[in-house]
Amino acid sequence: MKPEWPIADLPPQGGEIRPPRCYIGDMTIDPRNVTPSGEFPPMIDPFGRAVTYLRVSVTDRCDFRCTYCMSEHMTFLPKPEILSLEELDQVCTAFIAKGMRKLRLTGGEPLVRRDVMTLIRNLGRHLDTGALDELTLTTNGSQLAKYAGDLYAAGVRRINVSLDTLDEANFARITRWGRLPQVLAGIEAATRAGLKVKINTVALKDENEHEIPSLIEWANGEGHDITLIETMPMGDIDGDRTDQYLPLSKVREQLEARWTLTDLPERTGGPARYVSIKETGGKLGLITPLTHNFCESCNRVRLTCTGTLFMCLGQEDAADLRAALRNDTSGALLNDAIDEAIGRKPKGHDFVIERKRAKPAVGRHMSVTGG
Ligand code: SAM
Ligand code: SF4
Repeated sequence: MKPEWPIADLPPQGGEIRPPRCYIGDMTIDPRNVTPSGEFPPMIDPFGRAVTYLRVSVTDRCDFRCTYCMSEHMTFLPKPEILSLEELDQVCTAFIAKGMRKLRLTGGEPLVRRDVMTLIRNLGRHLDTGALDELTLTTNGSQLAKYAGDLYAAGVRRINVSLDTLDEANFARITRWGRLPQVLAGIEAATRAGLKVKINTVALKDENEHEIPSLIEWANGEGHDITLIETMPMGDIDGDRTDQYLPLSKVREQLEARWTLTDLPERTGGPARYVSIKETGGKLGLITPLTHNFCESCNRVRLTCTGTLFMCLGQEDAADLRAALRNDTSGALLNDAIDEAIGRKPKGHDFVIERKRAKPAVGRHMSVTGG
């Protein structure tokens, strides 16, 4: 149902002339959220940060079982708790009307959700109107051969593909259920379809440490940027995380012994820092989420597939948007719940991997918020 706000009851807007009614896609927008020039100004959190980037986990399910992300026998969420594709669209649209400029779909594995292309195609309408700058996704690549063309047609131009090794046996061991040739074929299909691919690699002590230089050479050689990620202590896995933790400071030292790395000023409002590598001619990102050096510029929030909004990747505090969405078809409660949540966005996170710590720093798995 199309939400309608009580236009006549709106409080005065300080003398500004606002458009009487605004639409975003097929949704009516509260005119208080729109500037006279028709733009959606960003929400500002209590620390003065503009919140412009929404990451949405569209499913907690996955066709892989990466050792650092999940245990092999995961219990997934009951279906009724999961937002329908229409509900996901509604929440994303409400956020876009509050100034979100970038939307990333993630998971679990976003491309294993049934009919996910319907959601992606529908969200693409916000690119057409100019309300959204970018619609993108993070994927394990297993379904890319099937969907690459459709993604491009829906307006997606860049994607992140996770790939931790180019060794088939090692790939099968790290992902447990994944097959390397399928992912490589997916990456090729994406490139052919015109999508810019960025590779994400989790740095794992003893597991892919020795392969990192060859992965970088391969990625840059294929024209892909690549980002290395430190493991984050999220959710119970079958093993001990301290066995996998490989500090990127150490990786960087090893890479500097081999290549010329130059820091780049580029910032995305997230934990990545970038360097160029003279010898490969490519760009390398380094994500060190356990450090605090990026919180002051954090521009993002994360929505789970059950409609829970996490204002910080490293904190447990969250807002239930599903109740607001399901209890009020006008959208007014949802709008208020989003505003209230952004008003609680914390200054920073508390990640620590401690040697003797039995429990993860954050109880939920990465597949809940999607990274
Ligand atoms: N399934 C998709 C994929 O693998 O790209 C999207 C979801 S996955 C949770 C998003 C990213 O988080 C992937 O790049 C994955 O490698 C990374 N990731 C998962 N668990 C992690 C952890 N505990 N620490 C660091 N990165 C993690
Ligand atoms: Fe699945 Fe991605 Fe987690 Fe691997 S990292 S288990 S592909 S959600």
